[in-house]
Amino acid sequence: MIVCERKPLSTILESLRSYRKVVIAGCSECVTVCHAGGEKEVALLRDLILLARNDLTVTTEVLTRQCDVEFLEALDGHVEKAECVVSMACGVGVQFLAERYPATWVIPAVDTRFAGGSRQPGTWEERCGLCGDCVLHLTGGICPVARCSKSLLNGPCGGSQGGRCEVGEELSCAWHEIHDRLEKLGRLDLLEVVLPPKDWSRARDGGPRKLLREDVAV
Ligand code: SF4
Ligand code: SF4
Repeated sequence: MIVCERKPLSTILESLRSYRKVVIAGCSECVTVCHAGGEKEVALLRDLILLARNDLTVTTEVLTRQCDVEFLEALDGHVEKAECVVSMACGVGVQFLAERYPATWVIPAVDTRFAGGSRQPGTWEERCGLCGDCVLHLTGGICPVARCSKSLLNGPCGGSQGGRCEVGEELSCAWHEIHDRLEKLGRLDLLEVVLPPKDWSRARDGGPRKLLREDVAV
């Protein structure tokens, strides 16, 4: 999922300084799961804003998904009466709202951090760098792009000590983990495979990406 984190209240209040009528838009997908912008967080932000600014009128709506145009309509009535929209969705949701409401200022209330998951409550870890050309079948299911601090594709940098990354004691060395997992699976031969330079044009480096699936397109 897309992992997000709410911005500090002071930052949100600063963005709202010149507005009196606000709608807060949450999302029921990733930001609900990572406790950044679902129903509970929308209600909390509304209350915090009203505590700080009793001159504001705040309405709220939690959309099914902000990254899907078919669900944005539910916000139309609120936006008509508001001067600005505070989106608690990821950056995709914020931009979809900005496109739908070109005459209304849209403010992001969360920071979009990374693609990852949760292994225990309250902790999220990055797992995918969205490179567009997955090599997990060659690296024991451990992503060298997202989990090696230097995104090295062909083995470790040589700086790890005791399985820890030289960039930070708190980080595991991804290549140490890749080695251990391949060893357990009896596939150390994969370490001999030299991965060619990655086609980064399929990643963000190639500019904004678009995916067309003709089998589901209408
Ligand atoms: S190799 Fe690329 S697509 Fe696969 S998990 Fe890593 S960043 Fe994501
Ligand atoms: S120590 Fe390991 S994880 Fe850290 S940069 Fe080097 S190879 Fe990558």
